[in-house]
Amino acid sequence: MKTRKQSVQIKKIHGYTVVLAPCPIDTIAVRTVVHTGFIHETMTTSGIHHLLEHVSVDGWKPCKLNCIQYWNKRGCVMNATTGNTEVNYFVKGLPDMTEDIIRYISTIVTTPRLSEEVMHREKKAVISELSMIMNGPKYALTNAFNQSFYVPEGLQHMDDAKLQLKNIEALTMPMLKEAHQRMYTPETVMFVVYGNFSVPVITKLMTSYLPMSNSVPPYPFDCFSYQKEMLYVHKDSPTVTVLVGFPMKTLWNERGLYEHVLRTLLFDELRTKHSLVYGITVTIHQDHCSSSLVIDFECLPEVFIKTLHVLFHRLMECTRTLIDKEILIGQQQKMIYLYHTKYDYDIYYSTYAYHKRSMYTKPQLIRKIQESTVQSFRSFMKEAIVFSQCTLAYQGKKNFHLDWKMFK
Ligand SMILES: [Zn+2]
Repeated sequence: MKTRKQSVQIKKIHGYTVVLAPCPIDTIAVRTVVHTGFIHETMTTSGIHHLLEHVSVDGWKPCKLNCIQYWNKRGCVMNATTGNTEVNYFVKGLPDMTEDIIRYISTIVTTPRLSEEVMHREKKAVISELSMIMNGPKYALTNAFNQSFYVPEGLQHMDDAKLQLKNIEALTMPMLKEAHQRMYTPETVMFVVYGNFSVPVITKLMTSYLPMSNSVPPYPFDCFSYQKEMLYVHKDSPTVTVLVGFPMKTLWNERGLYEHVLRTLLFDELRTKHSLVYGITVTIHQDHCSSSLVIDFECLPEVFIKTLHVLFHRLMECTRTLIDKEILIGQQQKMIYLYHTKYDYDIYYSTYAYHKRSMYTKPQLIRKIQESTVQSFRSFMKEAIVFSQCTLAYQGKKNFHLDWKMFK
């Protein structure tokens, strides 16, 4: 038998973008990503899209107001999340559930039955969730960071659980319906189908379950403040916790690889060479705001200033000189390992929503990784490391009265 060459197809069905990525595996994942979330909120509506997400999850008639139970009984994994600039819903399972999954996902995002009963029940769940967030170790630090790093009100308050707890009491069904009608449109909603399926079958199903409609795209925001700032947050803690954020304009295809490379370089410097930290986290966020680099670590107060000096020096060095090739090769191999083991392909395909470009299959992605170079990593660092746009927030017992002038 001849094996058909797989490729990723991007279609428009009734105005909705659908990414179809068939793959020779034994499962199927259907995901939808809606371009909304905290970015489209204000001080008085902060948290509305999160509650809407909880209520929409149960908005399909066959579930009888409890879709978590419905999917549990059918052996599928279902979940939803609300983020900075997007709301995600997904169901994953075995291919015999495909038709139900497609019907469910298409319905809950385009024509959900939003029930008053579910809203009251889910308000309680969201209140528990927000209370847990308020109890988190970086709660105050993250909020201080967001206030300085972002410009839109909704993003400044996206982790402000205290404000959202206050708002949630006042949210009503007409408000949820209005938010749904305004933000869930063919321009903002995108679907991803990944795994074991036939493209014509899915195309036919989606054509019958997606409604016809007209809409206008939401206007774009500039998310970042591009201001340099050093912020202190008091917390009675034996360590200093630090967040360092750099906004960027480019969406880098090699994002995952560069995260690993930079983490390795900073770990080698701060932990192995100088024994200043236990670990360090590097995250390259990408969404409708384009991208940002956030570095996150904890250290003892007595080495805090030295750690910043060493960190800034190493970051600057990466913008000027080429890194050791062996580090890049090692992390390329690690990415390939991830592509073979636990990479979330459906999440990768959902990034098409904010970054329109060719979408690749697993073998193509592996080839792309092998083609990246130490020169392209330096270009990435050159764009990211701009201290005049950097927000640094730290939390601990002592205020060090930091000033950017200390790090010239
Ligand atoms: Zn939630």
